Amino acid sequence: GVGDFFDLEKLCVLGRGNHGSVYKVRHGQTLAIYALKIIQQGSNDAYVSHETEILNCLDSPFVVKCHGIFEPRAGEKAILMEYMDAGTLDTIFRDNGPFSETSLARIAYQVLNGLKYLHEHDIVHLDIKPSNLLVSKDMKVKIADFGVSKIVQGIGTRADTNHHNMCEGTHAYMSPERLDSHTFGSGYVYAGDVWSLGVTLLELYVGHFPFFPADKRPSNWMELVLVVCFGEFPSFPKEASEEFRSFIKCCLEKEPSKRWTVSQLLSHPYACLGERLGK
Ligand code: ADP
Ligand code: MG
Repeated sequence: GVGDFFDLEKLCVLGRGNHGSVYKVRHGQTLAIYALKIIQQGSNDAYVSHETEILNCLDSPFVVKCHGIFEPRAGEKAILMEYMDAGTLDTIFRDNGPFSETSLARIAYQVLNGLKYLHEHDIVHLDIKPSNLLVSKDMKVKIADFGVSKIVQGIGTRADTNHHNMCEGTHAYMSPERLDSHTFGSGYVYAGDVWSLGVTLLELYVGHFPFFPADKRPSNWMELVLVVCFGEFPSFPKEASEEFRSFIKCCLEKEPSKRWTVSQLLSHPYACLGERLGK
């Protein structure tokens, strides 16, 4: 079966990150195609990922499926995953430009279902962004990359006394309470994923980081913190529908206690539209 790590042939590189690479691989015996993520976790490295443990016990149609965990050599872990054949929301955006409101509604519905599953299993993803949302040719969207994810019981207690851990992830998609370390640990950890989803959807709609004008990117940490924590709500293009605006505003509520939860968002008219369109 696919249990044999050494019967996997590397076909090409799908992505490279800070702690490893993802390859497209073929299983020699069955010729089935998979994605294989190899994570280097050196002993002198402060980086400790729970990705293998987390992914190994998840089973949802909205989360990338894990088919096996291997330890090819000391300090290395490998995750065999289902191969998603249409890339990520990031690569699709780069190839085709911004998404329509209706495609984003279908995407929102699926990511919300993935987040609902994670949050119900005490997992906070902490790195929701276009390049971590995988897509298949039939427009199924699945959450991937649990490299900075946490099991919530551990947060603020034994496993996570190191606050700095919580600042991993991609800053541009980080909620005000995560950027502003003074308010982190307020008890609304799951709300951070909702914020990141809001930034992701709005970015894919307007075509750029939504808190800045089209031709500008935050040039440093302080600029980002100022605009995200204290800046005005990003303006919508005038053609944006009321449902879309309202949904994004519910995600991008600065105060985490007032931000909508994933379950609340799933009953928002815009998510319901996404559900109907997907049928
Ligand atoms: P990193 O920690 O390096 O960001 P990811 O798990 O996000 O690791 O994988 C990096 C990239 O590899 C993704 O952005 C995507 O382009 C590609 N990739 C990862 N997993 C898969 C998969 N299962 N199917 C297809 N492509 C994948
Ligand atoms: Mg990633």
